[in-house]
Amino acid sequence: MVEDTLAPYVIEEARSSRSRCRTCRKKIEKGKLRLGILLEGPYGTGYLWHHLTCAARRRLEDVEAAYAQPAFEKGLKVPALEKLQALQEKAEKERADRKELPYVEKAPTGRSKCKRCGAGIEQDSFRVVLAREVAFGSQVRSGPINVHPKCVAEELDTEDCMTEVEGFGEALHAHSGLDAATVDAALAEIGSLG
Ligand SMILES: [Zn+2]
Ligand SMILES: [Zn+2]
Repeated sequence: MVEDTLAPYVIEEARSSRSRCRTCRKKIEKGKLRLGILLEGPYGTGYLWHHLTCAARRRLEDVEAAYAQPAFEKGLKVPALEKLQALQEKAEKERADRKELPYVEKAPTGRSKCKRCGAGIEQDSFRVVLAREVAFGSQVRSGPINVHPKCVAEELDTEDCMTEVEGFGEALHAHSGLDAATVDAALAEIGSLG
């Protein structure tokens, strides 16, 4: 009953317009490149399909594994893996830009500065992103600012700060996308908030 002839991944041009992309939920038009990920479930074995580009944005590890296999026939025109990796990076950045405030992250570089004290934020140390009121001409909007954990209490106390003390810890847990222990470690560095 095990169909061990099926490869874990397949990349091909959709043979019909009947499959649906598991990432974007839209139809995969006939002829479009699709990635199939083998699923062995209680009801049998089969491929779950994704647009190749959708898969690159959301699950690049699978795309990389499929290219390494390789999961496509010689002669099939597939985009260079670097192109798909670039798609993923762009999507990642867009997701980060859409992140709800406040959140905490590990500073990816040592180049950012704390908006409260002006000092640099060390690479790999916690960087807390809060909302501060920013005026664009006559418009007032809230924009993200980076601060040190130890500068959070002071920033939350200012009038321009749009992040509230109330529920701060819960919001940080909900928005950061990190495991609870890591967020708790950041909260410990932040200390008590008035
Ligand atoms: Zn899709
Ligand atoms: Zn600071």
